[in-house]
Amino acid sequence: MPIPFRSTRSPLPTTTLSGAIRQGLAPDGGLYIPAAWPSGAPLAPAEASFAEVARALIAPFAEGDPIEDVLGDLCQASLDFPIPVVPLTGDGTLMVLELFHGPTAAFKDAGARFLAACLTSTARARPLEILVATSGDTGGAVAAAFHRRPGVRVTLLYPQGLVSPTQERQLTCWDDNVVSLAVAGTFDDCQRMVKEAFLDPGLAARHDFTSANSINVGRLLPQAAWYASAARRNAAVHGGRLSFIVPSGNLGNAYGALVARAMGYPIGEIILAHNTNRTVPDYLATGTWAPRPSVPTLASAMDVGNPSNFERFLAMHPEVAGMRHAVRAASVDDDAIRRRITEDHRTYGRTWCPHTAVAADVYARLTEAERREGRWCLVATAHPAKFPEVVEPLIGGTVAVPPSLAALAGRPTRVTTIAPTLAALAAVLDR
Ligand SMILES: *Cc1c(COP(=O)(O)O)cnc(C)c1O
Repeated sequence: MPIPFRSTRSPLPTTTLSGAIRQGLAPDGGLYIPAAWPSGAPLAPAEASFAEVARALIAPFAEGDPIEDVLGDLCQASLDFPIPVVPLTGDGTLMVLELFHGPTAAFKDAGARFLAACLTSTARARPLEILVATSGDTGGAVAAAFHRRPGVRVTLLYPQGLVSPTQERQLTCWDDNVVSLAVAGTFDDCQRMVKEAFLDPGLAARHDFTSANSINVGRLLPQAAWYASAARRNAAVHGGRLSFIVPSGNLGNAYGALVARAMGYPIGEIILAHNTNRTVPDYLATGTWAPRPSVPTLASAMDVGNPSNFERFLAMHPEVAGMRHAVRAASVDDDAIRRRITEDHRTYGRTWCPHTAVAADVYARLTEAERREGRWCLVATAHPAKFPEVVEPLIGGTVAVPPSLAALAGRPTRVTTIAPTLAALAAVLDR
């Protein structure tokens, strides 16, 4: 029996894995989640590659689905970069899961590449039109994943002058089927224009729109596989469960850890490490869900005041007591991020990106006993070379740029500036 998908806002299963991937958002405005967890599905072997773990983990949801036959190939082709777990201490109690070895050096590469592979695995009469509003990292990962794939065109919208120079380069170094638009407005304008395009009857009739944003299950499922894989390997070597500290914003990455644990992988605690956008830590402390506008921090990819994937957490743990049992959460400010980068560079000889530093600081605040008795894995979500202006002064040295980022830096850039209006976007799309 295939496991169907349902909206977080309704108990009735309504679609399949490919349906959920194709639609992105459920028609009732909810997020797609599996209607059940596979029981007794075999766990991937400890020595399996990341792509094999992903295939084993996703397979129960793909039974009878059009992508079932090609799932192994999709995983092999899209999840083809290393995701190592590197020990930080000699006694094996602390390690780091490095998610930054993909083409744009942040964890979003894996989900974006798997989604791209799924959406382009079947031939289509009309090209798919992917519209993405981005404030930074997502757009680059999505562009890299879809670049030069047949049957799909990507249009990126970002706020002109409001992204970092490194990010802007990653958003504009594409050609062929990727179009980069610098919008003379804010990120909110970009999001509004994308929403208006989806809802405009004329445009929707002329274009086969879809979205590639982080709430798509096609991006989430591969993110469960790295927790499954790391926990299996830890259990094979040391026995017992592995606990994770996850730099969190919109909670898509951390949701993967909950999924892997629900499917039986040996995962202990899951700690959500937030910056000063503390909606989730406050919820766990007070029991009141109070979303608020985001505030800018050094860990900018986590500047989220109303994390959309929290709806998926609530679907698993509707009561605050149950949620407190399932996860812990903490908040770290910019001063602590700076201090942690400097201190851990001295202690471990490792340079964290500002997001990873949030998780490292949460680890440093655990009690002695918690650190000694558990096995902890920090999740490193981006390479520090993406944030040289923050990191280099703190470590008093330079960060070597990985080859994938260096290759992007060498490409010519191309961008069109447009007014923050639907008419301006429509003119580009209809061209
Ligand atoms: C997107 C991002 C995050 C936050 O991940 P969520 O899934 O939104 O919680 C953390 N770190 C980096 C580097 C990111 O790009």
